[in-house]
Amino acid sequence: MTTLQAPPAHTSAQALVLVAPLSGQLVAIEAVPDPVFAQKMVGDGISIDPVSQVLLSPCDGEIAQVHSAGHAVTVKTTQGLEILMHIGLDTVALKGKGFTPKVRVGDRVRTGDILIEFDADYVALNARSLLTQIVVTNSDRVAQFKPATGMVNASRDPILELVLAEPTATGEEAAGPVVISKDIIIPNPAGLHARPAAVLAQLAKKYQSAITIHRGSDSANGRSVVAIMGLEISRGDTVTLAATGVDAEAAIAELEEAVRTGLGEEGAVPIALAAASIAQSELTAPPPRPKSDDPNILLGVAASPGLAVGNTLRARRQVIEVEEDAENPNAEHRKLDKALEQAMLEIESLRAKVHGQGDPSKAAIFAAHQELLEDPELMDITGSAIDKGKSAAFAWQQTYTAQADQLAKLKSELLAQRANDLRDVGDRVLRILTGVEEKAFVYPDNTILVAEDLTPSDMANIDPSRVKGFCTVAGGATSHVAILARSMGIPAIAGIEPRVLDLADGTPVILDGSKGKLRLNASVQELEATQNRIARQKAKQAADLEQAFAPAITQDGRQIEVVANIGSKKDAEAAIQVGGEGVGLLRTEFVFMEATSAPTEDQQEAIYADILRVLGPERPMIIRTLDVGGDKPLPYLPMAHEENPFLGERGIRLGFDRPELMRTQFRAILKASTAGKARVMFPMIARLEEIAMAKAVMEEERQKLGVPPIEIGIMIEVPAAAVLAERFAEQVDFFSIGTNDLTQYPLAMDRGHPKLAPFVDALNPSVLRMIDLTVRGADQHGKWVGVCGGVAGDPQAVPILVGLGVKELSVSVPVIPAVKAQVRTLRYSHCQELAQRALNLDSAAQVRELVPLEEF
Ligand code: PEP
Ligand code: MG
Repeated sequence: MTTLQAPPAHTSAQALVLVAPLSGQLVAIEAVPDPVFAQKMVGDGISIDPVSQVLLSPCDGEIAQVHSAGHAVTVKTTQGLEILMHIGLDTVALKGKGFTPKVRVGDRVRTGDILIEFDADYVALNARSLLTQIVVTNSDRVAQFKPATGMVNASRDPILELVLAEPTATGEEAAGPVVISKDIIIPNPAGLHARPAAVLAQLAKKYQSAITIHRGSDSANGRSVVAIMGLEISRGDTVTLAATGVDAEAAIAELEEAVRTGLGEEGAVPIALAAASIAQSELTAPPPRPKSDDPNILLGVAASPGLAVGNTLRARRQVIEVEEDAENPNAEHRKLDKALEQAMLEIESLRAKVHGQGDPSKAAIFAAHQELLEDPELMDITGSAIDKGKSAAFAWQQTYTAQADQLAKLKSELLAQRANDLRDVGDRVLRILTGVEEKAFVYPDNTILVAEDLTPSDMANIDPSRVKGFCTVAGGATSHVAILARSMGIPAIAGIEPRVLDLADGTPVILDGSKGKLRLNASVQELEATQNRIARQKAKQAADLEQAFAPAITQDGRQIEVVANIGSKKDAEAAIQVGGEGVGLLRTEFVFMEATSAPTEDQQEAIYADILRVLGPERPMIIRTLDVGGDKPLPYLPMAHEENPFLGERGIRLGFDRPELMRTQFRAILKASTAGKARVMFPMIARLEEIAMAKAVMEEERQKLGVPPIEIGIMIEVPAAAVLAERFAEQVDFFSIGTNDLTQYPLAMDRGHPKLAPFVDALNPSVLRMIDLTVRGADQHGKWVGVCGGVAGDPQAVPILVGLGVKELSVSVPVIPAVKAQVRTLRYSHCQELAQRALNLDSAAQVRELVPLEEF
């Protein structure tokens, strides 16, 4: 139904009727969930939620602009109206993927002619929304907008009647002083695309002065969104603004600042460019390096715990020589493209290789590397060097080393560490370009690797049976290399004193990764004592493993289920090998992170069912629905920039925003559930309604599929849920406490913050009280509680969690035997007393004193 009666494409001198460019549901422009459109900054118009995927011309006219990302096109009518059609929201970020423009600037088009074909599925999955806006960018030429409503058919139904205004003089002819801005570097990640262009035009319209934007010899009217977009201004481009008129000075003062600061768009800055756009003064200085006064002790940062004794070996970077010049730029461009493609594949396989334990950061490391391979800044600079006659290898090497050097110089420890990632990716592409093979190095037994820095790729190639530990001068506890070392169980020190590089290869050392201490010139007795300690630790591990298949029952008869946190089938197999009694947390985000696009229902079902079959009919598995956002972005699921991602669309909240993504996963879980003992769990539940909503969707899909019901639980990881646990317990079968988040939220301390790390301790009594509340709330309704956050595997926490009444500990695979062994040494009644005392202490440190660590 539509409210317009006018015939399609009816045109008169005073009015123009636009015809539906797509079939679908009309949506008022004010209702578009993007302020740039909703507040009519681009112009007034209408939006369509499309069901077709070919954008047609809504009127006769000439193509005034086609965006290089293919998602937007402007038709200029004979009356001079500029009709911009913008497919989807935030689709500029898709960089052209999914769009095939069928027209070029200057083409004449008739109503109903094809303008852009697009892949609606791809866009829906990868952008924020498919809503397509049809707006008049020079809306001041229109006296009245009369939008239609309801469903419309493409090329048939009218969508918007425009009553034209009498032409008036515009400020463009204004006379008066001319004011020119300073040079401004564009900081916007996708350049001046529709949104920032609209904001600029809107601001420019506030002034009487004529305003132009200039880049090199090109210029455009600063009030025209289309003209600004037509300049295709990219990030890093230098522009100037000019104003002519009585208020020119004020205009430039406001606009210059607005453009310089990104026109309100604070999109995440990809790594390679962060160097250019982050003021040094805003960055935090790294903590001072530890330095030892004892010549026989070198200090650094504890990067990966554990003791190792061995002989040092200096790892050196391979230097690759390249030819500077090349004859044929086209051939060089092709070489670069091929090398980038090859690098992408190699990183994909590295990702598979290191993937093991359920630590989301690991998969994310190589995903970030893949993103660097697509960084537009790197590509642009390399591309223009090739155009100037440089070889692809030379252009690439110059670009990434310059960018990495720039990053490394920054005061921010985090950004400096990203320089290492850039070098890693850069070296890989360079090796492919030059055909220089990576030297396969066989390390001697008991090697302690010493290096200026190691890269994540180096880590993936280390043989842990020979390399017992490593220390690097660069890096910190949060560096990607440290994360990988921890997951591989290799003791490591980062940020160690540089004099470590002076050690002759073969120097005997003791490396203490827990204390960040490297001991030189140890006496024979000391070396022996340390080796004995390592041997005792190993013996204890062996004994624990031998008992790993027995249940974990306290001395006074309380059984604790010890289950695994996993991310894949391989993890499930490993968990069973070491006595895992099931899976307390399958982080399904791994299934999504390992894919280059969202896995289909069938693919997901196969993966979940496969893991259930590995576990067999008796061992339960809790499948946690997708928990991305916050610290775990998905490259193919772009999300709007958020000021505070940890307080934004994380976990189940994202599911409600992308219902199809959520339903697809629910169906896959339900279909797979009959392959074993499946339970489902929702992450980041904060409000009671969220449980009801998620359960309703689950039940709807279950009935459609006709499969038996499965147990449904929630993560307790938001303080609101812990505090109201008693009410939440009415609605679910079980709780699993996510202490990683249930520590960062109550303490308001980022769980990954390098400086706050010592205080982000789940044994803080405030967190323990939340756990206590949760267990007591669940008890009132006869529901059970598990813990799946990292603290569940911490030997100082185990007695306290058991004492608080937790029934299940879900831990990382390698610690399963030790946790089971520890539970067997405990008395539940003693643990209860311990827990009550802990609840009344003042700090995490005091709680830790209450449960001293066993010494070896
Ligand atoms: C947690 O928050 O403790 C948890 C287990 O979930 P994740 O670490 O995946 O956020
Ligand atoms: Mg969590």
